[in-house]
Amino acid sequence: MNDRLNVAIVGAGIGGLSAALALSARGMNVTVFEEILWPREAGAGISIPPNAATLLKRAGLRGALEQVSTRSQGLSARTSQGEPVPTPPASIAEQGYQIHRVEFLNMLLSTVKAPVRFGHRCVGVGETEIGARLTFANGAVHDADLVIGADGIHSMVQRAIGLVSRPTSEGIMAYRGLVQSQRLSWAAELRGLNMWMGAGRSLICFPVSQGRLINVVAFVPSSRDMEETWYAPGDVKALASEYEGWDVPVQDIITALDQTFRWGIYDRPPLPYWSKGRVTLLGDAAHPMVPHFGQGAAQAIEDGFALAALLEHARRDEIPATLKAYQDLRLERTSRVQAASRKAGRFYRSMGEDPSERAEKMREWMSAAAWIFPYDAEKAAAALL
Ligand code: FAD
Repeated sequence: MNDRLNVAIVGAGIGGLSAALALSARGMNVTVFEEILWPREAGAGISIPPNAATLLKRAGLRGALEQVSTRSQGLSARTSQGEPVPTPPASIAEQGYQIHRVEFLNMLLSTVKAPVRFGHRCVGVGETEIGARLTFANGAVHDADLVIGADGIHSMVQRAIGLVSRPTSEGIMAYRGLVQSQRLSWAAELRGLNMWMGAGRSLICFPVSQGRLINVVAFVPSSRDMEETWYAPGDVKALASEYEGWDVPVQDIITALDQTFRWGIYDRPPLPYWSKGRVTLLGDAAHPMVPHFGQGAAQAIEDGFALAALLEHARRDEIPATLKAYQDLRLERTSRVQAASRKAGRFYRSMGEDPSERAEKMREWMSAAAWIFPYDAEKAAAALL
């Protein structure tokens, strides 16, 4: 009999593909199932902070990452009127990357040594006497030793193991978009993360695709219920009206946008558990978080690498206990990151415009959250063995 564990992953997002990469590298047979036909996420950028970048580089992706991404060079913060808000020195943040999501997904897809079955919408997850069984809308059935639900914020695997997620609106929505750098005279000088904050709103931009595009995320108040999806179209004019009278680069960026997408921001408390028998969760399915600290995907990447380290030497009869150990290790850290992200959001949209007050508060919460970046998820998992 083949001793290698057979792992099935539901979802080929950043979390599912990173987990597939880490699990295959440690000798497991992995199959990934994805409901869509191709990674067709609407264009958007993502920052990969050092805690995730360390793992990807160790897995051999340094060259690929450096080819398609822009290196993070810290955070420049300003008030709505463009007055600089001094930020703490960013030496560790410089080890991260800024990348176009689709380029990142394609990079993971071309690196991962596991079959990825597109067009497979999972509709059922159950345990069998010797493992776990997935069923799909197209009639396919797949048996594995264990199942990982990496199926995002509306996870069906989460529901299948008896969990109920309770979203509450943060009262804000995010407009997202990409601007062609050539449309902005000052784009060539843009480095790192740039943020403007004021009167209940904030706007962040950073270069991706090696500087050819600038990723824009604007958080504005909203009393309406909004979908959490990459595809809901936004209105550029409505976005512009939110930032009337703001610093000139903010207006320039919004004017240069051809289209935007909007995403309602919802917060959710940590789940009571992630693992049941031979089924577990990972990424947004396990710990959806508000995006104000740029850690959602990073925590999904950490999950996959930690789980791979724990499963590498596990026997089949040890799978439930190993998934429980994974849950306990990760639930504690991701719950703290969820709380830090919530706090960051409150700070970004607070009303005060005084730069020195902003700087002081920013120093406070950033140093309180400094534990996030140096963490090594693989080492933390290995320490449990
Ligand atoms: P997803 O990316 O949602 O992937 C889930 C996959 O599962 C999808 O491909 C989906 O099609 C598939 N799927 C779903 N259901 C099924 C099914 N039944 N069967 C088969 N397949 C299924 N994070 C960062 O780290 N840095 C950032 O800068 C950052 N910026 C963000 C900005 C915004 C505006 C938002 C909203 C989020 C941001 N995040 C950021 C968070 C990040 O996008 C998410 O945390 C991350 O995408 C989660 O990855 P995932 O793989 O867990 O889930």
